[in-house]
Amino acid sequence: MSKGIGWGFIGASTIARQWMVKAVRAQVGHDVVAVMSSSLERGRAYADELGIPEAYDSVDALLADPAVDAVYISTTNELHKDQVLAAAAAGKHVLCEKPLALTLQDATEMVAACRTAGVVMGTNHHLRNAATHQAIRAEIDSGVIGDVVALRIFHAVELPSNLQTWRINKPQAGGGVILDIVVHDADTVRFLLGEDPLDVMACAQHGGMAANVEDGSMVIMRMPSGALVQTHESFVVPFAGTGLEVHGTQGSIFARDVMTQRPLGEVELVTAQGRRTLSIEHHDLYAHSLAHFARAMREGGEAAVSGEDGVKSLAVALAVAESASEGRLVRVQYPV
Ligand code: NDP
Repeated sequence: MSKGIGWGFIGASTIARQWMVKAVRAQVGHDVVAVMSSSLERGRAYADELGIPEAYDSVDALLADPAVDAVYISTTNELHKDQVLAAAAAGKHVLCEKPLALTLQDATEMVAACRTAGVVMGTNHHLRNAATHQAIRAEIDSGVIGDVVALRIFHAVELPSNLQTWRINKPQAGGGVILDIVVHDADTVRFLLGEDPLDVMACAQHGGMAANVEDGSMVIMRMPSGALVQTHESFVVPFAGTGLEVHGTQGSIFARDVMTQRPLGEVELVTAQGRRTLSIEHHDLYAHSLAHFARAMREGGEAAVSGEDGVKSLAVALAVAESASEGRLVRVQYPV
């Protein structure tokens, strides 16, 4: 019988605790064998709480553990680059949190390092792993709504109090709503419409939660097909509810509660034939992503969201930040 796959978790984070440990354990033969925290004491407590055998306080020590085959990186965003480069150099497969990095050059370097090392690299954008998003994309691809004219994304939430740390007060860690939520929306746009935004026009706001980064944004994206996209992101809106709408020349899709980590939400299709609620079999978004990753490790191929996808969502978010700061339309710069 073959040895199982051991995951090393770099970062004793909330997302790892809430979602990723169980997503790994949902894969047959996979387990989390080690965690790295900058504080050994916190790392040990975290490992004990989650039943993880080893805790380390350095990336090198974790990467030197022969039980580690793949790493999941969920530290704050300014740390991702060096940790990905170290993991790739050690020959470990890499699933990295979004945004991959703070600059396009860094993100591109990370993807190139993984390619050179021959390891799988994935970006942990969860939303395209949702059964709702997959059903919406299937409807768009079927042509039932005709040509897509517009996509509107509602992703304004209240940042939970336990996460009101570096996201709202540490720009150098990649805080702010643009690097936190716009990147997810950019990936959703690319997944649903199958094309990359050409240029963006954005405004950001300071809604009272964040000290020195933006905590709200509205964005318009222009797509190569001519479709327009409108998005709203916020950390300070508790009761808006999330969702998205896709409007085509022959029909519209209305989706509620679908911009979330949880496997829920409803999708309705409206055409000249009437109004129909799609039948959705929900599944855990992160376990679905991990299943893709496991297959890519086993058989080759790409993660559900590749490193290149992570570079593109970052490119869109950086263009949004530039547009908001300069008050003008900005062309998205994708690395060639
Ligand atoms: P957290 O704030 O929970 O953790 C980030 C880092 O903060 C940890 O690596 C840890 O450092 C340190 N930390 C955490 N808790 C404590 C504490 N109690 N005391 C001291 N230090 C602490 O971050 P998130 O889980 O919210 O986000 C981590 C990454 O995941 C980010 O890149 C974020 O963008 C991404 N993310 C992605 C989501 C998705 O759905 N794809 C959802 C949420 C986040 P150390 O490891 O050194 O102990």
